Amino acid sequence: MAYDFDLYVIGAGSGGVRAARFAAGFGAKVAVAESRYLGGTCVNVGCVPKKLLVYGAHFAEDFEQASGFGWSLGEANFDWATLIANKDREINRLNGIYRNLLVNSGVTLHEGHARLVDPHQVEINGERFTAKHILIATGGWPQIPEIPGGEHAIGSNEAFFLKELPKRVLVVGGGYIAVEFAGIFHGLGAQTTLLYRGDLFLRGFDGAVRKHLQEELTKRGLDLQFNADIERIDKQADGSLKATLKDGRVLEADCVFYATGRRPMLDNLGLENTKVKLDKRGFVEVDDLYQTAESSILAIGDVIGRVQLTPVALAEGMAVARRLFKPEQYRPVDYAMIPTAVFSLPNIGTVGLSEEQAKADGHKVQIFESRFRPMKLTLTDCQERTLMKLVVDAETDKVLGCHMVGPDSGEIIQGLAIALKAGATKQHFDETIGVHPTAAEEFVTMRTPVAG
Ligand code: FAD
Ligand code: NDP
Repeated sequence: MAYDFDLYVIGAGSGGVRAARFAAGFGAKVAVAESRYLGGTCVNVGCVPKKLLVYGAHFAEDFEQASGFGWSLGEANFDWATLIANKDREINRLNGIYRNLLVNSGVTLHEGHARLVDPHQVEINGERFTAKHILIATGGWPQIPEIPGGEHAIGSNEAFFLKELPKRVLVVGGGYIAVEFAGIFHGLGAQTTLLYRGDLFLRGFDGAVRKHLQEELTKRGLDLQFNADIERIDKQADGSLKATLKDGRVLEADCVFYATGRRPMLDNLGLENTKVKLDKRGFVEVDDLYQTAESSILAIGDVIGRVQLTPVALAEGMAVARRLFKPEQYRPVDYAMIPTAVFSLPNIGTVGLSEEQAKADGHKVQIFESRFRPMKLTLTDCQERTLMKLVVDAETDKVLGCHMVGPDSGEIIQGLAIALKAGATKQHFDETIGVHPTAAEEFVTMRTPVAG
């Protein structure tokens, strides 16, 4: 049967754009549908605007520390509207770049909501198109628990477009987004409280990293409240919000921001017209080749709920394009040793196993840890400390995990990830000459294990 397209991609986010562009580059006839914004979550309401706001928040510390280096500044003032307008302009520019990338690579762009009509057919803006393969790359959406008054709360999508910086913010959650936004709001001057339902935030990260970040954020005046959760939210006559916690305490705020995970975006996608199955958590179920239960339909990125990170969606998009249209270049995505950063202030950078995970996996571990005051702060009153940690297999000497909390951790961890991917041992780290004077050199100078 002749199809309109070889590949029809639903969603022009990180994964969808990558798959579409490369498939077209390999000679396939490709269309991509996008209902909201080109570039998807990462470009519009994710990584990029988030990082810009983190940069904005960081200036507060820079101004404080400048006096130690002889600079005297007038009173610093922050204008949220300027930051948001400049951020919006940059995102607009990136949307244009994504449009050009698609069009210049020969991809047909359909702007509108796409719906599956059958295993080979998509409907968009009242028109129907057939395709040999259909790729679901529809991403995710903030998930806010249903509580009385939940309609007064916002999620990350809204946080990027607030008209003004709230004076008092309650951030709910203990994952990436909660920790990053708590840092943004606090850094920009809002009185910020983070409420997390468990004992310590960032479940799954190395224990020392979680504890160290807790201490550093507390030093900075961020109010961290663990074992705390909201039962109901009431709007008061003056427009402010009253949050009643499960333990009966009442907190007042101007904004309650939920960052409690993301669900797959499957709204009105027409999955019922296909044999596509969902897994227990509600994400699209795929095999190792991103094939769903319907042989013509594949899925990648956040919608499959494996690792919800942009570079992973990109790698999956690439793998699909190659397997379908350039099989001789196909390589499966390797999910081991994925580096990641939490852009809190200070950042976390991490790759490989946490100490807890390494032990649970049966490794006999040696732990190397260093805590120090960054050189830049020695002329300032700031008491921030950096943490670096290596988890090493005591039997093979292989470095299983590298973890850091401190300035530029996200930048530093990328290089270490290559070393770990290449199978570096602790001896390789020891034999590597440091770059002096940097914080990063500490990773190659830790000699004495601590009790693990
Ligand atoms: P998306 O990028 O979400 O793209 C899906 C696209 O599909 C969207 O544009 C959507 O509009 C479109 N779509 C959905 N349904 C339809 C339909 N029926 N028809 C047409 N179009 C449709 N990751 C990192 O690696 N680093 C970070 O620093 C980082 N920061 C983040 C910060 C925040 C606040 C958030 C929310 C996420 C962050 N992420 C980060 C995660 C990252 O954004 C996602 O992992 C990534 O965007 C997933 O890509 P994707 O292609 O699966 O989906
Ligand atoms: P996460 O899954 O990282 O964290 C969700 C948090 O919300 C957890 O602390 C969880 O607690 C808590 N939670 C879940 N449900 C409830 C509930 N009903 N009530 C109270 N608390 C709840 O999700 P995020 O929303 O922070 O981010 C989504 C994903 O986006 C991340 O996992 C990450 O993959 C990606 N991302 C990546 C970034 C980066 O690379 N820098 C930045 C931002 C997002 P518990 O731990 O107890 O389950």
